[in-house]
Amino acid sequence: MSQTEIPSAADTAQLTNQIAFAPLCDRFGRVHSALRISVTDRCNIRCQYCMPDHDLQFLAQHRLLSFAAIERFVKAVAKAGVTKIRITGGEPLMRPNLAELIERLADIREVEDLALTTNGMLLASQVSELVAAGLKRINISLDTLNEVTFEKIARRSGLQRVLEGIEAARAFPQLKLRLNALVLKHVNEDDIVPLAHFARQVSIPIRFIEFMPLDAERKWNGTQMLSGQEIRSLIEKEFGPLIKQESKDPSQPASDYQFADGRGLVGFIDSVTTPFCSSCNRIRLTAEGKIQNCLFGREEWNAAPLLQDDKASDAAIVDLVRTAVLRKHAAHGIAQPGFEPPQRAMYQIGG
Ligand code: SAM
Ligand code: SF4
Ligand code: SF4
Repeated sequence: MSQTEIPSAADTAQLTNQIAFAPLCDRFGRVHSALRISVTDRCNIRCQYCMPDHDLQFLAQHRLLSFAAIERFVKAVAKAGVTKIRITGGEPLMRPNLAELIERLADIREVEDLALTTNGMLLASQVSELVAAGLKRINISLDTLNEVTFEKIARRSGLQRVLEGIEAARAFPQLKLRLNALVLKHVNEDDIVPLAHFARQVSIPIRFIEFMPLDAERKWNGTQMLSGQEIRSLIEKEFGPLIKQESKDPSQPASDYQFADGRGLVGFIDSVTTPFCSSCNRIRLTAEGKIQNCLFGREEWNAAPLLQDDKASDAAIVDLVRTAVLRKHAAHGIAQPGFEPPQRAMYQIGG
């Protein structure tokens, strides 16, 4: 087509489509290709770094996005280059019939990576249907191997159920598993080395996470956080120098290492001391349908009305997400003076 020629109606339609579904690039050049979907804010435990112990106001069931609405959202953003989906919560396995949602999302052609983050308590009874539905990866949170410490952190019992969940998931060799451990100073510091031994024994990579100011009780002040560097030192003291692994994915939040003897992988998510915001590619959808552009974002965009409106187009849904992405800040600013934690705690966003 020459510069003076007027494009045909078909060409114009194609161009309009390309513009509407262009990649979700923010003001800092970060392209957003990963989506975390919270399917519930409920949980069967009460981790002190995430939830309050009591006086919880959970969303009424009718306010949760339906599976059809979530599928609709994913189909729309997939057209704009979102290919990685993680299901989270609250505890996602508390959402009835979760396998049905997995099946719907696994069927979306553009979705290349479909993963779940869970506390593992209900995994033993659900893992086979989740795998059958098309789930490829599961991260299981495990902060301790000691029941007393588990109860101190989770304010509920249940370590045995988590371990049974891990065992059940290991029966599926096609499933990629990972353990996530959040470390709190003077609470589960002594669990770091036993957890690393356990991870090697069960051949599952483990990642240690720094405690971020996302606890519901707003107690975070940095003093309970053990830095990734401190955790790494404890591990190297036990296992010898760790061998850095090159990451193929620059948006990957963890730095991963191999143990000195070549057996097993350990990673560190140093979100507070070494923020990885400059390569962040994540957006989030809360259980009631709010788009969040950052864990620490103070604004949110309500996608629920569009998702419930049969007449709303995919372009309108992507447009709302683009607005959110364009309002994203460069970084979380935890270390900046005047930093304020977000209104929502982790369980209300979706970690
Ligand atoms: N309930 C599931 C679980 O615990 O795996 C999924 C949701 S949970 C919010 C997801 C992850 O967020 C967990 O691995 C948990 O350790 C992490 N998390 C929760 N609160 C956090 C905080 N204040 N700082 C850093 N990570 C946190
Ligand atoms: Fe529940 Fe996960 Fe939060 Fe723990 S971290 S309270 S398991 S949602
Ligand atoms: Fe991304 Fe916000 Fe997390 Fe930084 S704090 S990595 S910008 S979600």
